[in-house]
Amino acid sequence: MVLSLLWRILMSVNARSVSPAKPPPHAGRYGKPQPHARGSSRPGDGPDVPGSEFLGQPPDTTRSPEHDLQILYVAGIPRTGSTVLGQLLSNVPGVTFVGELNFFWRRFARAEVCSCGQPLPACPFWSAVVREAYGELAPGQAEQLAELERHVLRRQFALTLAPGAWPVPEASRAGRMLAERAQLYQAIGRLTGAGWIIDAGKEPIFGALLARSKAVAVGTIHLVRDPRAVAYSWQKLIPSDSEPGYMTRKAAGKTAVHWVSQNLLVQLGLKRLGTTYVRVRYEDMASYPEQVLRRISLATGLAIEAGAATGGITLAPGDHHMVAGNPGVRRAASSGLQLRPDEAWRTKLPARKQRIVTAVCCGLMTGYGYSLRTAKEVTPPGSR
Ligand SMILES: [Zn+2]
Repeated sequence: MVLSLLWRILMSVNARSVSPAKPPPHAGRYGKPQPHARGSSRPGDGPDVPGSEFLGQPPDTTRSPEHDLQILYVAGIPRTGSTVLGQLLSNVPGVTFVGELNFFWRRFARAEVCSCGQPLPACPFWSAVVREAYGELAPGQAEQLAELERHVLRRQFALTLAPGAWPVPEASRAGRMLAERAQLYQAIGRLTGAGWIIDAGKEPIFGALLARSKAVAVGTIHLVRDPRAVAYSWQKLIPSDSEPGYMTRKAAGKTAVHWVSQNLLVQLGLKRLGTTYVRVRYEDMASYPEQVLRRISLATGLAIEAGAATGGITLAPGDHHMVAGNPGVRRAASSGLQLRPDEAWRTKLPARKQRIVTAVCCGLMTGYGYSLRTAKEVTPPGSR
């Protein structure tokens, strides 16, 4: 009931128009062809469902209107299909998908494996990016940056909910992390020639930090998925290919609480802070990828030509350098991945757990357009 009330408050925020972003001006060493036009979508394109909101944010007058580099930050909870969305967007000329950079330095210091198969410090792409951004690293510098990252992302939650005008002093830990992360993105932009970088970090606090940058423009793609599907995914045993062992597993109840808290933080924080905001549902992306891409194009100003999602996703070996992300999706994409909704939770997540997740998440689920009926109660199409 409380969540339902909160949701009504959130949904009462008025939508505003969107200011298209500046196209990328250059092409670099790792570059792809650059777009010559932008905003190819038309208003009204895409599935019109309650959960797929798009709106522009109020113009941020504290930020320069001219940015060569645009970051689209995919926010939400892990296991919502952000790796798929990032790969889909990386088909677009002028776009680079980098995986998840929120804990970049922790992963770099631990020599976790890039999607190309090399440890990050040895990966030709990421070693070039780090050199471009910072020169040669001093001994222990990666560990120091990892500690800075950990402190800011684990302790400074006020950044997420504080007003956009909340100052971030340059000498503070958050200010130092913001400055070094802007250097990292700008180095990626110079080396790839990309004018748009997709970061699927998902953590609201990292997005909220980035959105305060005056060096790069940051928009938010809020990706949501039915929490019962997310809960099922968190219970699966998935081998990690970036670090030893398996990806973290979580009980369905914990996942439900995490789902609510993360999505509320995106709604209450990032929605106010970024230059643009668009919310899409995993289920729509998997069923109607062209329409969802047009929706993103319309909301953000990223030029996406029709047909960008045709043929699904194929990753050429060694031609991608993503940090973290879903290894199962990456493996599937190496031999060609056709998009289709993953509905396995309907038969594989026990009905009792479905009911627990639904009870915890019902307020936001209604707002996002998800049915509250558990799969057992759903009548299959054509059976009547
Ligand atoms: Zn690599």
